[in-house]
Amino acid sequence: MAQRVVFLDRDGVLNRAFPEGGTTRPPMTLDELELLPGVPAALERLRAAGFARVVVTNQPDVARGKQTRAAVEAINAKMCAELPLTDLFACYHDTADRCDCRKPKPGMLLAAAAKWDLDLPAAFLIGDRWSDVAAAAAAGCRGVLIDTPFSSPERCSPDHTAADITAAVDWVLKTAAAEATGRTAAR
Ligand SMILES: [Mg+2]
Ligand SMILES: [Zn+2]
Repeated sequence: MAQRVVFLDRDGVLNRAFPEGGTTRPPMTLDELELLPGVPAALERLRAAGFARVVVTNQPDVARGKQTRAAVEAINAKMCAELPLTDLFACYHDTADRCDCRKPKPGMLLAAAAKWDLDLPAAFLIGDRWSDVAAAAAAGCRGVLIDTPFSSPERCSPDHTAADITAAVDWVLKTAAAEATGRTAAR
């Protein structure tokens, strides 16, 4: 049976992103990697509820020459070691590369679904940008937007908006539980 999953954006959802020039930038080094409050507990709640936890992250600074792929991979490896994550998919391209993986395209979600036998219609994504929510919609998943000054909510249609990962997971678990109850009642 296909498994339930919550996809998670990385920067601004799991770890702190740094405001710079009207947008945000990711941590450049392991020293800058700082988990946001409530992240380990939120992921543990998803694990306990039977959801796979899969990170899907755009890292265009590699294509832009602002960061090395090795530096990004070191940060990703540390996050996977410290947090209860199932897997992590990263796109190292920029828009001009026209790849299939850079969000708002759904390529990373579809690759994860094929690898882990994920139930996309039952899936959720938690992200902090319109492109995260748009990628979720393109893959047939529900999208939860963590609203920040950089989210551009007018460019997407989130199923829910939350202040942080704790509130986002509250909604995901409440919604999934209501669906499970509905299925039981329909039998
Ligand atoms: Mg982000
Ligand atoms: Zn890509």
